[in-house]
Amino acid sequence: MSEVLVLVDHVDGAVRKPTYELLTIAKRLGEPSAVFIGGAEAADAAVEAVKKYGAEKVYVVDDTEIKGYLVAPKAEVLAQLVEQARESGGPVAVLVPASVDGREIAGRLAIKTGSGLITDATDVQAGEADGDSPVTTQSVFAGNYTVTAKVTKGTPIIAVKPNAAAPEEAAGAGAVEQFAPTISEAAKKAKIVASQPRQASGRPELTEAAIVVAGGRGTGGNFDPVEGLADSLGAAVGASRAAVDSGWKPHAFQIGQTGKVVSPQLYIANGISGAIQHRAGMQTSKTIVAVNKDEEAPIFELVDFGVVGDLHKVLPAATEEINKRKG
Ligand code: FAD
Repeated sequence: MSEVLVLVDHVDGAVRKPTYELLTIAKRLGEPSAVFIGGAEAADAAVEAVKKYGAEKVYVVDDTEIKGYLVAPKAEVLAQLVEQARESGGPVAVLVPASVDGREIAGRLAIKTGSGLITDATDVQAGEADGDSPVTTQSVFAGNYTVTAKVTKGTPIIAVKPNAAAPEEAAGAGAVEQFAPTISEAAKKAKIVASQPRQASGRPELTEAAIVVAGGRGTGGNFDPVEGLADSLGAAVGASRAAVDSGWKPHAFQIGQTGKVVSPQLYIANGISGAIQHRAGMQTSKTIVAVNKDEEAPIFELVDFGVVGDLHKVLPAATEEINKRKG
């Protein structure tokens, strides 16, 4: 069976959830080979983690030479691994997380390997026949169309959105192979000179969260009910542009065409009318719930469950009930 390369997304060896999702998808397509680029001291923990989600092989790339540079060196690492795998008829595909970095790596990799690229896949399935390119699902044109696509040239390079699959544990061999890439000077043209860790909110990252609770203009600027419900569910908090433009939440919370695109298992929109630009950022959510006092609000056209009511009453009641049931 041919290998599927999966770029490991991690912070100092702590593997992030989207990697497990990618490994779960990779198992459908072939034999998952994780690609860990990081410090030698962090590699063991990462190898153990990805092994539990089916990684048969782990390429460990010591990042001493490339640490501190932007994404270009990572694209070169993957390109060299693709070339190596091609010698034995692979790889079936390269999967990277559809993060800001991941998308750029994918684009560069596609150019370097003369391959087709698919970004923001919300699902990836094996092609019909053995050796066929994987078939992806994407939501396009502000969420108005769902398309299936496959790469017809080179090695399929696929950037997959968080929550595209539920991570499934499956023991893999996790055979470690040290890989020493050759990094060009051109890839080292841009260097990170300073970085600041994001202030910890205690809540999951918005684009990766399994549950997102969002608030709009209907909150009137009081996000307490939204945050209370989010915390009872272990969810991330998001906002519409109206709420952000009003200064109630920073832009990092904005969901939509000019904000973040989320695709959680559950999206709860509160006091949000459902403008097309907002939908563009949340329409691929698996289950959508809305609370709005106007029964004619357009958001109700796309919900699985809708509550017509005042969010300042509905949300505290829901939060209380959830907390009671959690014991
Ligand atoms: P409104 O449309 O004002 O809706 C508020 C809703 O709250 C109403 O439906 C009302 O019935 C309800 N409500 C009021 N009080 C309560 C209450 N007490 N309880 C329950 N419900 C209540 N928008 C985005 O969100 N994200 C984007 O990325 C984005 N990008 C844009 C890009 C462009 C180029 C443009 C032109 C617009 C963009 N917008 C974006 C703006 C978008 O068009 C809408 O203006 C915006 O989404 C409206 O936000 P809202 O739903 O919170 O507010």
